[in-house]
Amino acid sequence: MSRKRLCCLDSKEYVEKGGLRCPYCNRSDIEGDLIVETDVGIAWQNMSCIDCNAEWRDEYTLTGYSTFGEDDE
Ligand SMILES: [Zn+2]
Repeated sequence: MSRKRLCCLDSKEYVEKGGLRCPYCNRSDIEGDLIVETDVGIAWQNMSCIDCNAEWRDEYTLTGYSTFGEDDE
């Protein structure tokens, strides 16, 4: 796997854009793997760019929990 240099978005900028842009070419034609893997308190998803074929990994951290609601019924 060849390593490309990040040219557009660093990790913080990527998050600010909601993870909707390729961090390499800044285009929006990106897609995520259907499988989201998890570990203690974190999750990650393999992402790729249709335009420039770059690959990277989205990382998620646990922020809380919600219940299926008694309130909704
Ligand atoms: Zn790209």
